[in-house]
Amino acid sequence: MKPQIRIINADITTLSVEAIVNAANPTLYGGGGVDGAIHDAAGPNLLHACKNIRKSQYPQGLPTGQAVITPGFNLSAKHIIHTVGPVYHKDDLALLADCYRNSLKLAEDHNCKSIAFPSISTGAYGVPITQAVKIVKKVIDSFESQHIKEIILVLHTVNDLEIYLQTFKDG
Ligand code: ADP
Repeated sequence: MKPQIRIINADITTLSVEAIVNAANPTLYGGGGVDGAIHDAAGPNLLHACKNIRKSQYPQGLPTGQAVITPGFNLSAKHIIHTVGPVYHKDDLALLADCYRNSLKLAEDHNCKSIAFPSISTGAYGVPITQAVKIVKKVIDSFESQHIKEIILVLHTVNDLEIYLQTFKDG
């Protein structure tokens, strides 16, 4: 089936959804932007869980485009899916599509009915949101879900929200 798409202006850490996605960096140890906000809101057990993933699965760090899952700890969200977006002018932007695809797959594997995404790579990693949103739309338009009923695209500013709304409206 095709999930319902909602595009909203919010702080992703406040949402009551089954999974939120974190725009992480390869260390998985937290950072600035949405990553810092998620670690602050989820509490210190999130860092412990991320350190365990590093030790057991990714001692060199999580590769760009890949995704891993942890509990949500103190968040309302049940799960946090951590993915590493491409850095503008350094990495292949096709890896941004991998972030969304791999996150959706992990959410499906964990029977999530709802998932919320921030705008991955468009903060510190520098990808212009006008380019990123086209990639996001393409992935979501071709996505067929088993369990996910709702995908929420969360923008942190009204300006970003308007760019997303315009792009999704234009079809
Ligand atoms: P990246 O390093 O992948 O670029 P950033 O966290 O720097 O990640 O930025 C990604 C996007 O997340 C930016 O558009 C930024 O405005 C947005 N953002 C920052 N904090 C939050 C938040 N609490 N909720 C939702 N989006 C946020």
